[in-house]
Amino acid sequence: MSRINRPGPALVAGLLVLAAHPARPAEPPADLGAQADVAAARGVFERNLAAITKRDREAYLATYLEAPTLARSGPEGPSLGYEGFAAQAGEGWPEVFEAQDLRLVPVEPGVVYGTYRYRVAYRDPETGRLDEHAGLSERMFVETPEGWLIAVTSAFDAPTGTPPPPRALVGATLVDGTGAPPVPDAAVLLRGGEIECAGTRAECPVPEGVGVVDLAGKWLTPGLVDAHVHFAQTGWADGRPDALDVRDRYPYPETVARLEADPERFFRAFLCSGVTAVFDVGGYPWTWDLPARAEADTRAPHVAAAGPLLSTLDYWVNLPAERQFHHLADEASAREGVDYVAARGADAVKVWLIVTGERPLDELERIVGVVGARADERGLPLVVHATDLPEAKAALRAGAEVLVQSVWDRPVDDEFLELARAAGATYVPTLTVPFGYQRMFAAAASGDPPSVDDPHGCVDADTLAKVAESAELSPPAGLTAERLAERAARIAEEDRTAAANLRRVHAAGVPVAMGTDAGNPLTLHGPSVYAELEAMEAAGLSPMEVLVAATRDGARAMGRGDDLGTVEAGKAADLLVLAADPTAGASAFRALEAVVRGGVLRPVGELASPAGREPAAADRD
Ligand SMILES: [Zn+2]
Repeated sequence: MSRINRPGPALVAGLLVLAAHPARPAEPPADLGAQADVAAARGVFERNLAAITKRDREAYLATYLEAPTLARSGPEGPSLGYEGFAAQAGEGWPEVFEAQDLRLVPVEPGVVYGTYRYRVAYRDPETGRLDEHAGLSERMFVETPEGWLIAVTSAFDAPTGTPPPPRALVGATLVDGTGAPPVPDAAVLLRGGEIECAGTRAECPVPEGVGVVDLAGKWLTPGLVDAHVHFAQTGWADGRPDALDVRDRYPYPETVARLEADPERFFRAFLCSGVTAVFDVGGYPWTWDLPARAEADTRAPHVAAAGPLLSTLDYWVNLPAERQFHHLADEASAREGVDYVAARGADAVKVWLIVTGERPLDELERIVGVVGARADERGLPLVVHATDLPEAKAALRAGAEVLVQSVWDRPVDDEFLELARAAGATYVPTLTVPFGYQRMFAAAASGDPPSVDDPHGCVDADTLAKVAESAELSPPAGLTAERLAERAARIAEEDRTAAANLRRVHAAGVPVAMGTDAGNPLTLHGPSVYAELEAMEAAGLSPMEVLVAATRDGARAMGRGDDLGTVEAGKAADLLVLAADPTAGASAFRALEAVVRGGVLRPVGELASPAGREPAAADRD
């Protein structure tokens, strides 16, 4: 196996056999002339790549053979000739350029073949978004009287899902998400989109040829998991006409159509905020398409989706021919609902357990019990929205495995804690979401736009504009200044109860996962995690306990505990690089510097929204 440490001559030469030299033996002689050729070609290769990085057209062109035989190849075929090449060179340098995994092999005296794996991104002048490409680029180097030059160049984009080149992240303090003590000066090896090794440098020596990222002075954690989000809500009133009706400005069918057409803006906002996996616990049927769409895309978080909610209330926020609420009218409709979402490939069954007084809780518990039993038969976890203690207990008796809200109305009792432990349920407190509604109503009442807590500029321009528009709205009918103040006082009181309940639930050994309820008004997809993490810490969890809840236990809540949520060998290569110590305070996640998803490391600025950047002209040359 010692050959692995050499730059793969057998493999690359084998490829070349097809191209040019059918009689060439698999193992080229490693004579001194060949070594000198490779060194010379490497020099040109490095100058060529450095010129792209520096956007230096002259230096770039100086590495190419000035001849009619210069060949450029891509997916659409080859084109020949230096003149055409030089005419277009330098027209559109990539804003992001990353060259990894350089390999060179001598073909014959004076000829060297080389490849590298590229990741480039160009900014779309219209949308301002970065258009990223990754793939393999080849070079053929030839010795000429003018020195070594590139005679053939190619670039082929890799299909989505192609794992990035291996990488080693070394020197950071690793906080792996299991709750284990931090590992100083750690090494994490990434290969094939997964974590190959994580531990001390001695435990994880870096293999030769693997690109090393020096992270001395930084911290490495697993990517965050937001275990409660909604892609079918916008983060503002237009997605929740039941809270504040803006359908005269933004017709609801158009709002939902836009959400369905462009989940990428939320994918990017999540990733930009350090969130590498999310659990969508209720929305239109199209949310079922998101897990497959996001899974292989390293620019999206992993997604699990429940799809339409099975609701004890026959709720009206639907579209003429699409529902996000299926009414649990009786036991038959309960079974139908579960069979429907199971048939569509849901990752969970979500129940909206709302008591209105029209139906006694006993009856609702019986029906939710039917849902729970059917879900169990179908192998699907039962996720329940229940905000008051009696409903939360009913949900646990019905078989809930995830409670996606705090108990807000009163302190949890021993019976609740025993039920939760017996059910093996995860508690997702969503502490901050009520304040988002309150801030939107307050903005409408005061005429002052709400502030946006988005330290890395992750939120898209359209969402930001709508948030600001809160100040132009009229508050809901009857929400006078006095009522608004009463509401604020009630929310504050409920928040104290929720915080105390989180402490009790956690102390009782019930797993807790971090969830924001993103999509609700002013709980924005992505950056809302920071306030939620800090609220959990303020409630009494230690920073390390918050971190475990927001990583390992969130992954478990969304059914991905086996492959996500911790930095351990065999898990997906989803990590965060922080400039602050997350075991000292949850606010360290605001000091996010880079996000690794599926083994691809991107500085957080690369993931920021165009709206969060300087005017586009500053970025263009
Ligand atoms: Zn929710």
